[in-house]
Amino acid sequence: MTPLDQLADSLHNYEDEPAFCIGDKYYSYSNFRKTIAGIQQQIAETGLTGHRNIGILAYDDIETYASVFAILYMGHAFVPVNPLHPLERNKEIIHQSDIALLLSGKDDTIARNLSSEKTKLIFTGDQSSQGDFIQVPLSPYQNAYILFTSGSTGAPKGVPITINNLNAFLDAFFSIGYKVDYHDRFIQMFDLTFDLSIMGYMAPLCIGACIYTVPPDAIKYVHVYKLLEKYQITFALLVPSILISLREYFPEMNLPKLRYSLFCGEALYEDIAMEWSKCIPGATIQNVYGPTEATIFCMLYNVSRSGNNKSLNGILCIGKPMKNTEVFIAGDNFKPMPSGEKGELCLSGDQVTSGYWKNESINKEAFFNAEGSRYYRSGDLCYCDADGDHYYSGRIDFQVKINGFRVELSEIEHHARGFLKNHDVVALAGETEGRTAQIYIFAEQFHAGFDTLNDYLKTKLPSYMIPSKYFSVDKFPLNSNGKVDRKALVKMFS
Ligand code: AMP
Repeated sequence: MTPLDQLADSLHNYEDEPAFCIGDKYYSYSNFRKTIAGIQQQIAETGLTGHRNIGILAYDDIETYASVFAILYMGHAFVPVNPLHPLERNKEIIHQSDIALLLSGKDDTIARNLSSEKTKLIFTGDQSSQGDFIQVPLSPYQNAYILFTSGSTGAPKGVPITINNLNAFLDAFFSIGYKVDYHDRFIQMFDLTFDLSIMGYMAPLCIGACIYTVPPDAIKYVHVYKLLEKYQITFALLVPSILISLREYFPEMNLPKLRYSLFCGEALYEDIAMEWSKCIPGATIQNVYGPTEATIFCMLYNVSRSGNNKSLNGILCIGKPMKNTEVFIAGDNFKPMPSGEKGELCLSGDQVTSGYWKNESINKEAFFNAEGSRYYRSGDLCYCDADGDHYYSGRIDFQVKINGFRVELSEIEHHARGFLKNHDVVALAGETEGRTAQIYIFAEQFHAGFDTLNDYLKTKLPSYMIPSKYFSVDKFPLNSNGKVDRKALVKMFS
């Protein structure tokens, strides 16, 4: 039985147990199954056939979560769309993935503005659940979902994840050996367009546990703290930047019920992880690593509560590959680097995507074959020690993380250049405040105000990609290759 079959069985097996707690309201597994069945009936009534991509306007409501499984178990692929992101960006995602139906729990203008003749809107708050839950046989090779991440050419790029990729992740996750069952309480803090959310709700549903959700528009860290404490959460996957915001509350935090505390999405610093460990006296702490392209996460390091951890420049090691992943560190021409030497971390195995959605040119750069396996180039600079543990040492490109969100600086530059036309523009992740990166924009010879640029970028980019500071520069410093010297640029303003 695959993990996704097990998840479908949970919908029957845990009838009266709570599946979700959303905004302090509980929904049982049987409520949840009925909502899924009602949405499936709505989808079936549209007469949609074949294997299609179906969009979900991702709100913090039961209909949104139910839509995921309605779509999945009818043999279609779900594409989460964030209603808080700019209309134009969402339209681009809908266009790229050729979305035939858009499901929304709210009948609002955002939903209406995104629907069209080609993209029919279904208001899922309207369904009445008469039929039963539909579960068609799923092919391992069909897509389960497509997530869009920041794209360096200016448009977001789609990462399709197959049923096989997803089952491989869930299998590897449960093979870690967590002692969890239907009594457990998981927090789900992630935006549904971010793949860590998928672990946040799918893993607990496989075992009949309850999911406590953090609303997308809430001040995240305040809500995370509230849920951890009020509902005595037992399993939490968080992004490390949450700890930076929570740090000042550490002295008053005591969460003895938390048994598993996982971090993913960006570098986890050892000093803050050690301080956090005092708030969670009974928890196992793990640093997990993985790009969206390798399904949620695929490497793990067990953090020792007593110190003596492996780290590089204060950043905790990302450990070893999980069950269904193989890795190697590649040097020039993809030659494996000897232990201790840095190179690009390349990932292979059942969790790795079949390639970007309809984007052959990027696929040629991002994937390669070696020794009978297909590898994804992560863009992460790492080295491996003699024990097989991997150390993260930064990026080899211009991708940065802002509060765990992946941002291609060139996507911001693309839009800023489009607006400023005759001025060269550089976007940089500036020095960190308490280690939270900030985006800065530098424009050459631009002496007018930056307010209009800022307003323009807000219509193109999600809020976490909006620069926090703008600078005008007479002449960009150049390096010996004649390219803009980004390090020198930062120094000019620090
Ligand atoms: P995403 O596709 O949004 O999950 O972002 C993947 C990228 O986040 C990776 O390629 C890394 O650059 C970074 N990342 C994820 N987890 C970790 C971690 N535990 N430590 C350091 N960087 C991480």
